[in-house]
Amino acid sequence: MPHSPKSRLTDPLTDLQAQAATGQHYHSSPEGSLAYHRVLRRAHTADTIVGVRGVAVGGQELTVIAGPCAVESAHQLMAAAEQAAASGAHLLRGGAFKLRTSPYAFSGLGEAALKMLSEARRVSGLPIVTEVVDEESVLLAAAHADMLQIGTRNMHNYVLLKQAAATGKPILLKRGMSATLDEFLHAAEYILAAGNSQVVLCERGIRTFSDFTRNTLDLNIVPALKQISHLPVITDPSHGTGRSDLVPAMAKASIAAGADGVLIEMHPDPAKALSDGYQSLDPEEFRELVSDLARIAPIVGRTLTLRGR
Ligand code: PEP
Ligand code: MN
Repeated sequence: MPHSPKSRLTDPLTDLQAQAATGQHYHSSPEGSLAYHRVLRRAHTADTIVGVRGVAVGGQELTVIAGPCAVESAHQLMAAAEQAAASGAHLLRGGAFKLRTSPYAFSGLGEAALKMLSEARRVSGLPIVTEVVDEESVLLAAAHADMLQIGTRNMHNYVLLKQAAATGKPILLKRGMSATLDEFLHAAEYILAAGNSQVVLCERGIRTFSDFTRNTLDLNIVPALKQISHLPVITDPSHGTGRSDLVPAMAKASIAAGADGVLIEMHPDPAKALSDGYQSLDPEEFRELVSDLARIAPIVGRTLTLRGR
């Protein structure tokens, strides 16, 4: 079984866990003294395994989530789904509702994209993950998707966290781009407190002074989260780097650091992508990465069973 890193008794994270559990957390204001407890190993010593339509996230097996940043057309998505499945990915991702920095950028096909995702699942056999951004998209996505993603911009949107939790669907919770470990766990606690224990934490890169990457993939947080929480932890080296040339190395480093899986943006033709093409692997790069991850897995006591049809 994968083991979580142990800290010495004096380790600050041990203190953090103890303080959080007893409501003595140093970040807690008096009125917030309930802090969090459901996400902690104290509450649940065994690793949580999140089930996504028969795919387990967490535990011994590594999980690979792959697909385009955005669903652009039935043709594009179907090609991506078939390529992801052929390389052994476990879950198919694709954005239907895109939160873009510019109001003029492609913002997704909405419900039409959800229908394409359903069809791609039928053809490829891969369960689907898609981002929700508001109440309407939660209701629409819950009718089609197997896992709902909360993006970095919405990690602090507690109303949305509760709405997504209420669907009972597994939740892929991305870390806010400036969120501390403590804030990240509090966001997860919202979902658990709403009665949904099926949460996967995703480190997707944080804002730093790096001038050569879009974000900095904070691999430190992977063993730190595994130590303090029973929830599965994956990384997203695509947004974490913003550069397809750096994605494979950081995906491999994530697995070495103890992540339970990776989320990889993969596009049939990255040069033509309507969003995040510069950080998307092409199908061949993706195939190579998955086969490298499968070779690394046993070295860190994990297995990567290639799935798909
Ligand atoms: C995405 O997964 O395409 C996405 C928008 O992610 P993030 O919220 O991490 O930027
Ligand atoms: Mn993206």
